[in-house]
Amino acid sequence: MRDYLGISEIGQCARRVYYAHRPEWQEAKAETPEGLRVMAMGNALEGLILAEWHLKKFGGAKAPRIKGRQAEVAFGPCKGHLDGYVLVDGHAVVLDAKASTLPAMTQWKRNGLPDYYRAQGLGYISGLGALLGKPVNEAIFVAMDRLSGRLEEFSLAWDEDAGASLLSRTHALARAIENGPMPDREHESHSTACKHCPWRQSCWGAEELDYEDADAGRVLDATDWPGFEEQAQEYVDAGELLSLAKARQDDAKAALEAMLREHGAYGGSAAGFRVTGTKVHQEKFDSKRFREAQPDLYEKYQKAVDFVRLDVRRKG
Ligand code: SF4
Repeated sequence: MRDYLGISEIGQCARRVYYAHRPEWQEAKAETPEGLRVMAMGNALEGLILAEWHLKKFGGAKAPRIKGRQAEVAFGPCKGHLDGYVLVDGHAVVLDAKASTLPAMTQWKRNGLPDYYRAQGLGYISGLGALLGKPVNEAIFVAMDRLSGRLEEFSLAWDEDAGASLLSRTHALARAIENGPMPDREHESHSTACKHCPWRQSCWGAEELDYEDADAGRVLDATDWPGFEEQAQEYVDAGELLSLAKARQDDAKAALEAMLREHGAYGGSAAGFRVTGTKVHQEKFDSKRFREAQPDLYEKYQKAVDFVRLDVRRKG
């Protein structure tokens, strides 16, 4: 358990922050494997993301150095550690690296950075300003798609009003952690935030939507569901990647088979690979013919299975 309120936490759900800092809730914490993997990848890729961004952005020998790696900064009762900052034309710019996904990055380009990153960025901008003793006005989030390595940069300008309201939020969070009461939930149970929250079970428990009881066939307007469009896009994009990968694999397979045929062999070995073709004899049960020949028997051994088939596709 962190013994201080982190700047990276202040944009998270207030209740989640409360859980994270109250000793009595530590045993109830249940990280998901996906959450742990995302966190580990973020930590592992941080240096690489900034190094690549720096090279692409500035190149050359006179490039401004990335300074302040892991420098400790404060914002109200919170503190945090910077990924770094650069001086551009004499002005310090906060840098923050994010290992992300293409759908999320596309979403940020369309709708701007999500609120929890905006909060984090504003906290770091203010904290770096206090550390350097002069105003800082910008943070750059450098995001890398974990799959393709593609980089995108997202700029966040200092906003005095947003900074002030965020500061009061940090004090309210600190008071709640110290004396309670537990803050209200800030997300719905089906949101991405709740899906990845380690206290999901404690928070929602029996109140979780019983999917079995959901009204089948009813399609709700999900425009305001946080993360819904992002996840649908992730699903469709991943399906397209799978199709592309499958097509690539099929092409490579056909090319290998053609080469083997040309050389009259079932296998081939080169420096890094050994390809072996094995003759396989398979006998398959022809259920269509069986159904035609023995319709009663076929019906007798049918087993009913109920499940929800998800169909996700782009509109228009
Ligand atoms: S499950 Fe959702 S509402 Fe509950 S603490 Fe976590 S993020 Fe907040």
